[in-house]
Order: sequence, then C-alpha cells, then structure tokens
Amino acid sequence: MNELKDDMENLAAQLKAELLAFGADIVGFGDITELPPKARAGLPTGVSVAVNMPAEIARGIAELPTSEYFDFYNRANEALDGIVTRGAEFLKSKGYVAIAQTRDSVGSGGTENRTALPHKTVATRAGIGWIGKCALLVTKERGSMLRLSSILTDAPLTPAQSVDSSRCGSCNACAVACPGHAVLGELWAKGKPREEFFDAAACRVAARKRAILGFGVNTTICGKCIEACPYTRKAIEKELGEPTAKYR
Ligand code: SF4
Ligand code: SF4
Repeated sequence: MNELKDDMENLAAQLKAELLAFGADIVGFGDITELPPKARAGLPTGVSVAVNMPAEIARGIAELPTSEYFDFYNRANEALDGIVTRGAEFLKSKGYVAIAQTRDSVGSGGTENRTALPHKTVATRAGIGWIGKCALLVTKERGSMLRLSSILTDAPLTPAQSVDSSRCGSCNACAVACPGHAVLGELWAKGKPREEFFDAAACRVAARKRAILGFGVNTTICGKCIEACPYTRKAIEKELGEPTAKYR
C-alpha cells in the first residue's frame, strides 16, 4: 500500500518537474469525474497548467489592449501547446492515456468562446482558482494574470481540493470596468451556466472594437477585466510597486 502511494507521489512529482522544466509556472491536478464523460474523453483526471502573464503587460492594458499584450497572448498559447504536449508524452511514456488539450485538439471555442472542457474548469477542479464574475479564472496570488491549458489523463495523480464557489464577494470591479457590459454581476458557483453571469457575445463585440483601437488588429482581445480585478492589481503592485498616475 505504501509502495503504491510512493509510486503515485513519484509520478506526480516527476510530471510536475517536467512541466515546470518545459516552462509552466503553475501545475495542479484535479478530479474531473463529475463533468460529462464526453467532455473529458472518459478520463478521470485533469492536469491544469498555467504560465504567468508579466505584471508590466497587465498594467499596460489599463486603457486599451496593447501590441505587447497581443504578443504575450500568442506566445503564451504557443508555449502552452508545447508544454502540455510534452507533458502528455511523458505520461504516455509511463503507460497512461493522456490527451494534451492543445488549440489544435480542442479548437479556439468558436463564436461562443466555449470549448467542451474549458481549461479554467480544469483549473478550478485542481484548486488553482475560481471563476470570476468576468468568467476568467481568478487566483488569490496573481488575479487573472495567467494563461491556461490542460491535459486529460488516467494517470493516478492525487487531486487537489477543488474550488467550488466564487471568492469575488461583493466586488464588482470588472462589471464596472467592462466596456461591453458583458459582466452581469452574478457570482459563479460550480456547475452554474456561464450565460447566467456573463454575456460572451457582448464581450466579443467590445473586445474586437478595443483590439482594433488598441493595436490595430481585427481580433477579439481586450483584457480590461484582467487589469481591473483587485487580485490582479494587488499582484501587480507587489511586483512593480505603486502605479504611476498614468495607470490609476
Ligand atoms: S475582455 Fe473586455 S469586453 Fe470582455 S468581459 Fe473583459 S472587460 Fe469586458
Ligand atoms: S474584479 Fe472583482 S468581481 Fe471581477 S473577477 Fe475580480 S474579484 Fe471577481
């Protein structure tokens, strides 16, 4: 029994070390068996992987999205695809089923920005954070200054305690800041349909306008809700110090 436990701990430690070595900043394991089997390819465990957004990039999008933010977004997505692919290969080399949820395998979410099993759902199951009123993953440590990906697997990785409810409380900063009125002001809880607290279509319309205004590309990237979140701002201040007048 103890030997089995040691093997599981070794596998988890090795996988985590591999993912960190490949470039991940955060790694967590979650029990996803409560989610529909089709969405998780019948697999019981989600490995959540995140890379950090630099604080200066998050502070820089206070007014409008920037080309630096757009570059980070693209670079992070590419890096994450590579990291989860390497992680899945590692698990397969140990004899387990593992599916890297890369953009090629899950798509971009189409016009509704929704995939079968969003990376942020896996992140909540892995105890990394909760879904904010703005429908982004929010962490206590870095707010929403993260980009996420995930791996689905049958490897015996001990899951973390999941986060099942919002920690936004009475905060409404993202709703106030959102230029598209996409944040409806309701708290997320496990299983709550996104439509009940977030208008994804309104977000896309506003984000497209802001991307064109901010860096001249016809895409749907805004990020104002990332920067406006007090958890993000606290982390930015911790890393960069007090904001200058430009960013207040
Ligand atoms: S990305 Fe922009 S438009 Fe979309 S919810 Fe956040 S602040 Fe609103
Ligand atoms: S700004 Fe406030 S309400 Fe919005 S996600 Fe952050 S903590 Fe939650």
